[in-house]
Order: sequence, then structure tokens, then C-alpha cells
Amino acid sequence: MAASTTAKACRSPTPGTQNPATSLKHESPAVSDALVVFGASGDLAHKKIFPALFALHQRGELSVPVIGVASSDWSNAQFRERAQASLDEAHVGGTQTEQQDFLAQLHYVSGDYKQSATFEALRGALLKEGRAAKRPAHYLAIPPSLFPTVIRGLGAAGLADDARVIVEKPFGRDLASAQELNAVALEVFPEDAIFRIDHFLAKEAIMNLLYFRFANTFLEPLWNRKYVSSVQITLAEDFGIKGRGGFYESAGCLRDVVQNHLLQIVALLAMEAPGNRSTAAVNAEKFQVLNAMRPLTPDNLVRGQYEGYRDEEKVAPDSDVETYCALRLFIDSWRWAGVPWFVRSGKCLPTTACEVLVRLECPPVQLFDHASSAGGIAADAAVAGSAGNYLRLRLSPRSLIALAARVKTPGKSYSGEQKEMVLADEHTEEQSAYERLLSDAMAGDPSLFAHEDAVEAAWRVVEPVLENHGPALAYAPGSWGPAAADALTAGHGGWHNPET
Ligand code: NDP
Repeated sequence: MAASTTAKACRSPTPGTQNPATSLKHESPAVSDALVVFGASGDLAHKKIFPALFALHQRGELSVPVIGVASSDWSNAQFRERAQASLDEAHVGGTQTEQQDFLAQLHYVSGDYKQSATFEALRGALLKEGRAAKRPAHYLAIPPSLFPTVIRGLGAAGLADDARVIVEKPFGRDLASAQELNAVALEVFPEDAIFRIDHFLAKEAIMNLLYFRFANTFLEPLWNRKYVSSVQITLAEDFGIKGRGGFYESAGCLRDVVQNHLLQIVALLAMEAPGNRSTAAVNAEKFQVLNAMRPLTPDNLVRGQYEGYRDEEKVAPDSDVETYCALRLFIDSWRWAGVPWFVRSGKCLPTTACEVLVRLECPPVQLFDHASSAGGIAADAAVAGSAGNYLRLRLSPRSLIALAARVKTPGKSYSGEQKEMVLADEHTEEQSAYERLLSDAMAGDPSLFAHEDAVEAAWRVVEPVLENHGPALAYAPGSWGPAAADALTAGHGGWHNPET
């Protein structure tokens, strides 16, 4: 039977955006014809990049040469041995032929990034007989202090023409350095050729935040200051700094995960619906959220440091670097004015998980008793501010969406408890974030990368507390961080601790 002519059909926002492509809409620029990996002998390349490139190769999505550039004095054969070790350690599987074919794509240039001869040697490798790459993608998996050196080196050697640059995190260590780095990058590359990595943005569960919010109608009426009482995001790790003391001492939790990953999650959760699916439209709405976010003040931040951190290698014995931080944010927008956003992350916490909890206001009149609540979040029900329904979005390790509603417990009395309706992600084989990011950058698709405006707006939020803050308070490994953080969520149901 034909649908009633009065019924409203689901429709695309604007003509021309109906294409059901998997990524956000963008033009189709030329695909890069080589991938240059600066930092090819480093830790990130070893742990993540070679396995990701091999997975792309297996799917037939990487047929271009991959040229590693680093200072280790290696031959091609030694470079390939190192890559083989990386594949072995990651247990990537695949046949021996597949692995050999992949390794044959790898080439190596040894040299110091501070020397122009290194870039000349790279040019030689790109143009070498049979390759003649003209549109390379340069991926900078190198110490951040060298980002400007390499970008300028590429420009001076004429290797930036028709090329792309993919910049690892962190993009700056404060607002001024981010602006400076943006300026250097824009001297050499146009904005649409600059790909700033925030690998969180390419995780399936994070991509699903955008989809879940704007592919469903039921959320929108609730998704505002009238019905949402608070939002919490916890990014917990049950391990320490894993020997990366040198890196962590110059970063700390706020710079390492809050300014980038966690503020991006807030932006996705808080943004208005974009006018269409283009990257520009989505980025513009995310930027508006960050722009409306109140810059942090020291009383809205609690910093912590796990006991034993100062004994780690390359950590100062009197280090005040935070391995934990908890913050209270406010977004001064029409939709979110007055709603606190609690964000927390830490190392050596009881579990490894990332979870969002959106608490809804209680019904305006309380007809029933909440006393029989039990278990999990429902057990908080007696705590002020937590008796309302909630939406729980588990982002990792496994993606899950749970909507909690109160249901009556059988019996004479009208009391009940929160029960979750759960949508669990059944997909077990997820493409790794780096596979997605590297293949997107080579294809010129910017949708999963951070835009200059958003990066700077996020720095503006954390800038006031980068230096001006309370001391990092000691907490026991395996605990949920310093008790002082509880004051932030007091009156809002307390912190919700994701279960293992
Ligand atoms: P490493 O210190 O392990 O590697 C640095 C790389 O840069 C090495 O290949 C090194 O070459 C090369 N290098 C350094 N200085 C020079 C120079 N002057 N000339 C030529 N080559 C040079 O760093 P990571 O791999 O840990 O990190 C790289 C980037 O990735 C950083 O921006 C980091 O923030 C980011 N990152 C890292 C993660 C990780 O888990 N490691 C996670 C997320 C992001 P050689 O060793 O041959 O001297």
C-alpha cells in the first residue's frame, strides 16, 4: 500500500548530498602516488604504522611505494627486516607471499632532517626509475619539535608541490605554538593538503557518535539543557606511561588526551546538526562548540599523579606532571547553558575504557520512591542528581549504547529500578584508526582530521590552566584518582566509573 501523501518522507538536507558514501561528502581529489614516512624507525611506526599499512596492502588499498626516512644508518634490506619484525610482533597474519609483496614496496632513505641533503636524497628516491612519484603524501611520525624543520625542508626541496602532509599529534603544546605550527604548515602547503591526526576521530565508536546523534529523531527533543542535567566522559587506562617518560614529562594528561581526543568527543556530542554532510559543515559546527566553551579556570580542574610515576625512567624525581586530570566544562550556548560537562582521564586507573554518561533530569514530580535501585549506576540513584534516566555510550574497548529507564519491581509497592536497553556493537573486525587515517589522507579525504580552527579553539579552552593550576595530587595505582576530584561532580550524582 502506498504511504499516505501527507506523511513526511525522510529526506536529505540539501539536493546533491544523497550520495550514500561511507565518509562525509568531499570532492574526489587525486590519490597520492607515494607515502613517505618520516620517523620510519620510531616506536609509533613499529607498533602501529607497519601493521596498518600491511592491512591496507592486504585489502588492495596500498599499491604505491612507501619510503621511510630516518637517521638510522640502514639499508633497504635492514629497513624491511625491521618492518617484518613489526608485522611479526603485531601478529598480522596473511600469507608469506602477501608479506613479501608488501615488504618489496618499502624503501629507505637515511639522513638528518636538519640537512637539505636528506630531502635531495628523498627526491631521488621518489623519482627513481619506475616510481616517478609526483604527488606524495608525507607522514610526519617524528618528535613534534621537528615538525617545522621537516615541513620547511620539504618546501625548500620542492617536495611540497601537489603533495600532502600528515602531521602526528600533538599539534602544538599551547595556543601560541599551535598557531606557529599552523603558520609554518600553511606557508608550505594549502589547508586542504594538511592532515592533522587525532587518531580518536577515526575510531568506529567515535564516528558513530555523529551518526547516532543525527541519524535518529528520538534524541533531539531531549538533547539540551532542559532535559540533560550533566554529561560525563571518562577515558581510563589501567596502565602507566609504559617507559615513555621522556615524552610524558613534556606532555601530561591535559595536553596528551584532553585538549585533543576528549574535547573532540565533547564537540561531537554537543554540536548542532550540520546543514549537510560535508566536512566543512561538520567542522564548522564542532568549532562553534569549542568556541562557546568557557576557558578553564584552576577551580574547575583537579590534577593527579599516580604513586610511582616519579620512579619511572626519564621522569624528574620532583615531577609535577599530571597523569590524571578531571575537569568541569561549560558550554555557553543556547542548547547547553548551565549544563556541566565533566571530563576525566588518567593512567593506572582500575580499568581501560572510554565511556560517556548523559544524565537526564528527573521527572518534574516524583510520584514514586527510588529506594529499591540496585547495582551499577542505578545504585547511585539515592545520590542527588542521579535518579533520572541516562544514556550510556561506551566507546571502548567495545562499543555499546545503553538507554536506562525506570521499571517497576514486581510487587505491591510502586518502586522500581533503572534498567538498561542495550545496543551492543557486534562487529569484531574493526579497521584500525591508522588504516583509515592513512588511506583517507592519501585519498585527500579530510573528514576524520582536525581542522586548524578547532585545534586552536581547543587550545584556547585549556590555555589558562596549562601553567596556572593546583599541584598534581598523589593517587594510588588502581584507584579512580585523587578524592579531590569528587568535589567537581558533587550534587550531580558523582563520578560514574565505567565497569571493567
Ligand atoms: P620515536 O622517538 O620513537 O621516533 C622518532 C623518529 O624520528 C625515529 O624514526 C627517529 O629516527 C626520527 N628522528 C628523530 N630525529 C631525527 C632527525 N634529526 N633526523 C632524522 N630522523 C630523526 O617517536 P615515536 O615514534 O614515539 O613518536 C613519533 C610521533 O608520533 C610523535 O609526534 C608522537 O607524539 C606521536 N605519537 C606516538 C605514539 C606512540 O605510541 N609512540 C602514539 C601517538 C602519537 P632514528 O631513530 O633513526 O634516529
